[in-house]
Amino acid sequence: MLYRELGKTKEKVSILGFGSMRLPTKGSNDKIDTEEASKMLTYGLENGINIIDTAYPYHCESLDGDGNSERFIGEFLKENSYRDDVLVSTKSPCWLIEKKEDFDDYLDKQLKKLQTDYIDLYMLHSLTENDWKKVKELEVLDFLDDALSSGKINHVGFSAHTEIDYLIEIVDEYPKWEAVLTQMNYLDEYYQSGIMGLDYLKNLNIGTMIMEPLRGGRLVQNIPPEIQKMWNTAEVKRTPVEWALQYLWDREDVDCVLSGMSSLEQVKENIEIASRSYPNSISESDSELIREVARKYRSYRGNECSYCGYCMPCPHGVNIVDCFKEYNIGHMLNNPHGSALQYFTLIGENARADNCLDCGECDFICTQMLNIPEELEKVSEYFGLEFNHY
Ligand code: SF4
Ligand code: SF4
Repeated sequence: MLYRELGKTKEKVSILGFGSMRLPTKGSNDKIDTEEASKMLTYGLENGINIIDTAYPYHCESLDGDGNSERFIGEFLKENSYRDDVLVSTKSPCWLIEKKEDFDDYLDKQLKKLQTDYIDLYMLHSLTENDWKKVKELEVLDFLDDALSSGKINHVGFSAHTEIDYLIEIVDEYPKWEAVLTQMNYLDEYYQSGIMGLDYLKNLNIGTMIMEPLRGGRLVQNIPPEIQKMWNTAEVKRTPVEWALQYLWDREDVDCVLSGMSSLEQVKENIEIASRSYPNSISESDSELIREVARKYRSYRGNECSYCGYCMPCPHGVNIVDCFKEYNIGHMLNNPHGSALQYFTLIGENARADNCLDCGECDFICTQMLNIPEELEKVSEYFGLEFNHY
């Protein structure tokens, strides 16, 4: 296992981190199969993983609730006396914060759930533009200063699904950020903050952690035959999982890749791949193949929007670019469910496709000659009007 310094935290972290939002369950999402999950964690920690990532709502029935992932990890670390050997990263549920005191209340609750008196890395969870504005008004930065001084948290960061300009704005407003968790994989170089965000963070020596390395499993399950054929042409043979992970580990701007593993087999497979990883293992021809595969995936998109933004702003508030992005990703990965979650959580109710009034303001504007209202209607049909995709 390779270890990298996580930016300003100066902590040496394993390149593979243990994500705990998809642990095995018995029936519903809140019922973790603790026996199987314990085997997975034991194997992971005994074989080099030294960072576990969790969050307040993981393994709960709904995103708003109090999840059991933190509880399970707390129990596991205590029972097996692993607490001092691993870094625990968890997150403040920003969307649930209503008043200033809530920050402390949630942190204290999380310490209790995790059965510890310190959290190694505490992140503001999934910051969106609106959440950031709200938590700033509720003096989140004072809360973080105090939590750091009191020793309840050792390092501070945030996770975000934002475009690059917002990522920069958040980073620039607080010099104490030490690590940031963003989405990246070989299909998402230009999705949200993507590679520009990683570059910005690296230049400031802020640790970079990666979520969705396998795009929720879509880069490794049900691989379209055309794409498998392309992988088969590679000089060095790799499984789809290995291509996706190795692509990230080969990047100098990536410190730690979090993988939300669901079975012991997956833990073993990922550790085995990580143990074979070495710097610059992706050759130039490998890089070209990865780009070709990404281009092939893109050819499955629902429309030809280039996200240039020339059609924005829509006078009626429709976020045309983001609607098309989620729609295209859903098509590209044949995953309407996964994209619906992003569509309904990241795009405000009034900015979704069904708000298009076909007013004619964007007729003949599109650089790709799309009929925007017609395409938005398809988006609306694809996702429906409310999130009921599980
Ligand atoms: S046609 Fe629809 S998307 Fe285009 S400007 Fe009018 S409301 Fe906005
Ligand atoms: S102008 Fe066309 S290509 Fe550009 S963002 Fe709007 S819909 Fe997409």
